Amino acid sequence: MFKLVCGAGNEDTESVKRLVYVYALAGCKLFDLSARKEILAAAKEGAKLAGINDLLYCVSIGIKGDKHITKAKINSTKCIKCANCFRNCPNDAIYSSIIIDEKKCIGCGICQKKCPTGAITTEEKDVNYKEILPYMVQNGVEFLELHIMGHDKEDLAKKWQVINECKPKFASICIDRENFGNKEVLERIKEMISTREPYTTIVQADGVPMSGGSDDYKTTLQAVAMAEVIQNAELPVHIMLSGGTNSKTAELAKMCGINYWGIAIGSWARKIVKPYVTQEDFWENKQIQNEAIDIAIKLIKSCK
Ligand code: SF4
Ligand code: SF4
Repeated sequence: MFKLVCGAGNEDTESVKRLVYVYALAGCKLFDLSARKEILAAAKEGAKLAGINDLLYCVSIGIKGDKHITKAKINSTKCIKCANCFRNCPNDAIYSSIIIDEKKCIGCGICQKKCPTGAITTEEKDVNYKEILPYMVQNGVEFLELHIMGHDKEDLAKKWQVINECKPKFASICIDRENFGNKEVLERIKEMISTREPYTTIVQADGVPMSGGSDDYKTTLQAVAMAEVIQNAELPVHIMLSGGTNSKTAELAKMCGINYWGIAIGSWARKIVKPYVTQEDFWENKQIQNEAIDIAIKLIKSCK
């Protein structure tokens, strides 16, 4: 199973519509979306324009402290207009005037690392999950995902409970080792799946989240290593690789004996079609669309 990650924090409806259109026509069946009504509607619009009506949707939320629910913020009094952040943002979320478009910001934190003056901080933007998650399931979303790389266990328990009460076809746990070691990662997962039916949970083994800007083995190494930790624990879950995933992921995972259920690709998948899906005449220009679709087909094939 290949999953196109549009971005848990990506609230740019036009971008999501185009990504779903391209990747649906390339053969992708599962799409990861921000938990916003307008984003689900945009994804469905993209599918409709592609003439494909059997797509699956996954909606992601995060617990407090997880960077998937953060947005970058610039303190203009500290900014020296060096444009490092503008040049390095992978999602074109910063304008040349050094203003952040919150809807496009996915919270990756790259701009913060590149800022020489400490002018950039991040702030959490949580959703009303008690209202939005039931809405999503009622409107055809079959996968609900929780990003759990934060220290607030109370928030984790509350959100996981709501996800379970919604009874999605699959519940997904997205975890990496940036904040925790293997022991805590496995303890969290075991506790979370203890009340669930076997193999109704997906563990999304995140290598380094939102880091998939390159197509090499090194970039995807941590995703495969994280999947190995989950696999060795022999839990009744499906394993999906993510976070730094690219066209080398499947090959490396196979070399390492990982029995993965799926591969989720975000940054790399979006980057390779970006020159096409950002064209002003995208919807009128069939040649641009076909070139983007061909590139997406190659990536999906590499994940088999
Ligand atoms: S670099 Fe990442 S965190 Fe910064 S504005 Fe762009 S998307 Fe947001
Ligand atoms: S990197 Fe920092 S100092 Fe440079 S333009 Fe961006 S916010 Fe301003």
